[in-house]
Order: sequence, then C-alpha cells, then structure tokens
Amino acid sequence: MKGICSKCGMPTNIGRTNVWQPNGVIVGKYPPHLRGTIYDLDELKYLFDSIARQTGLDISRLIIEGKRKDALRFISSMLEHFKETGGSLPPAINIYEIVFNLCKVWGLGAIEILNYQEGETITISAKNAYYVPMFAGDASGVFESIEGCRVVPEWKGDESKLTLTLKRGEGEPELEQRIEAEVEKGIPSKEEGDLWYQLCGECGAPLELSRLLSWDMENAIIIEKLTGNRTFFHNTNGLFAVVKLLVDELGEDIERIILSSERAFAKNLYTKVKENTSLDAELNKFPLRSWGRPSQLKKEGGAFFIHVDNPYLDHIVAGRIWGLFEAFKEQEYIFGFESSGSGYIKIELDPIAS
Ligand SMILES: [Zn+2]
Repeated sequence: MKGICSKCGMPTNIGRTNVWQPNGVIVGKYPPHLRGTIYDLDELKYLFDSIARQTGLDISRLIIEGKRKDALRFISSMLEHFKETGGSLPPAINIYEIVFNLCKVWGLGAIEILNYQEGETITISAKNAYYVPMFAGDASGVFESIEGCRVVPEWKGDESKLTLTLKRGEGEPELEQRIEAEVEKGIPSKEEGDLWYQLCGECGAPLELSRLLSWDMENAIIIEKLTGNRTFFHNTNGLFAVVKLLVDELGEDIERIILSSERAFAKNLYTKVKENTSLDAELNKFPLRSWGRPSQLKKEGGAFFIHVDNPYLDHIVAGRIWGLFEAFKEQEYIFGFESSGSGYIKIELDPIAS
C-alpha cells in the first residue's frame, strides 16, 4: 500500500523523517528537529479526566492552547523549510492535504475538507479524531500557520465522527503568551546515551517498533499490540507546556494528582498484561516511544532505585513506573522522587510492609 513500508509495515514517513537517538528521545530529522513522542492515548485521557475531576477545572482550554502553539510552530517551520529548499510554496489547499495526510500517519484522525474559504474559514470532518481538545488545538495551529490569522474552533460530534469549524476570531492574549513561553523553552534533555536499535533497511524505523504497534494508517488508528491501547505520534513540547502551566497554577496538588493517576492507570494496565511480558521488557519500551531511558536500576533489600534520562514529562513517567513496579512485583511501594530539572529523574520505591 502507498506510504507503507513493504519490509516492516510501518508508515514510511515515520522512519524517514525521525531519528531514534541513543539517549531515549525521538527527534525530527528536519528543522526545527522537534522531539516526538509515541503517547498512550488511553493513559492521557485517564489523566486529563482525573485532573478535571479532582480539581473541578475545565482544562480543555489549556490543552487546546498547548496544542495550537505546537502545531503553529511545527507547520510554520515546515513551510519555512519548503521555501528554503524548494522555492515557492504550493497552494494552501495542497498544503492542507499534505498536513492532513500526516495526521493519518500520526494516528490523529482521518480528515476530509468540507468547506474552505481562503483566509476566512475551514470546516473539516474527522473520523477517529484522537482527542477532541488536542485535535481542535492542532487544527487551529495548522490553519493559523497557513493563513496567518488567529482562529477560534467550534465543533459538533465526538471522537468517532467530528465536524470542526475554524473561523477568524480573537484569542486570550495573556494565556497565549504564557503558554508560548513554555512551548519555546521546551524540554530539558541530557545528550548522553548509548542505545542502539536495529533499523529497517527500507524506511529506517526501528524494527522493534513494528513488533510494538499495529499501524492502520488509512483509519488513523495505531494500537499497541500488547495492551490494545490506542497510541499516537506527536510533538512533545505542547503537552509539556500544558502540564508546566498546570503545575504553576496548582502547585504540588497537581503533581500529586498526576503521580497518583499514573500509578493507578499503570498498575491496572500491567496487571492485565503481565503474563505476556516482563518488567524489563516494558522498561525497555520507554525509549522506543521517546518516554526517556530508564537506567541505573538497583535493588537494595526490597527497595528499588531507578533513574530515567530524558523523561518526556517527569511526573507522568515517574507515576507510570511506580504503578508498573507495583503490578509486576505484586507489592505496594512508598514512592520517592527527585527531579533534576535538567533532563533526568530519580525514583525510589520502598516496600510497604504487609
Ligand atoms: Zn520499514
């Protein structure tokens, strides 16, 4: 099939445009070399629901903003790159087609354009949109980077069948400035690493990726084979900025909510699948998905100590590891956690005496 690697079955675009670095991070091959992550969609939905329920806040506005900035930056750089290498840009409608095809590849949704008026409005329908607020943010950023004007998203329907209209409108300058600053700052990372992957000779993606995921590009659905969870590939900075802002607003409360939500989600998930995998095998999948690289695992008595280099989000990765150990060891742990603020975290798990 067109766009699918005949050797490993992954979309050719994924392997050809990304590099799996030896430090546990996936980075775009072309400028601006943004970090990408293969997220667990079910995990993020569970997390956002937990945050909304426990804080009473509607965080969708913040999620839309984070993703809007992410998309704006990504598409603007893509257009710059086009100009620098090939001269003139294709007509806007063709750029939308290129971008919407990429949305299928990344597992964000299968999109059709229903109505388009240059510089004014666009209406699209999406089948299998991954998550409405993130999708609406992405679409807004795409439109703005191509048309050069601010838009407001409105939608009908849900993830299975969504109709989204973007119209010229005003944003929220204060919120936008704060989130923009965080998106620009991005994620601290350590450069070191000695990971090595066996790559597909045809498209360049790690062969391990095709063992991990089943990728239905036409329907924009990527499934993790082991768990059945839906995943998607996307930029990392936008989500990082959303969580950073939530932490600024709500302080330690939000960190506690993220850690406990991740712990519960991971414990439940790995308890269901642990007969078919192992603790080490699951930790080894983290860098393949750009979640960061678990390292320096030590056991002292019943306690475990572990570092993660380059976690995509400190608290999400730390909480997931907490629940992962509890599932595989069938033991509850007191959790200790230290973030370096510069690209690695330390986790300590002390068994609770039963
Ligand atoms: Zn391949």
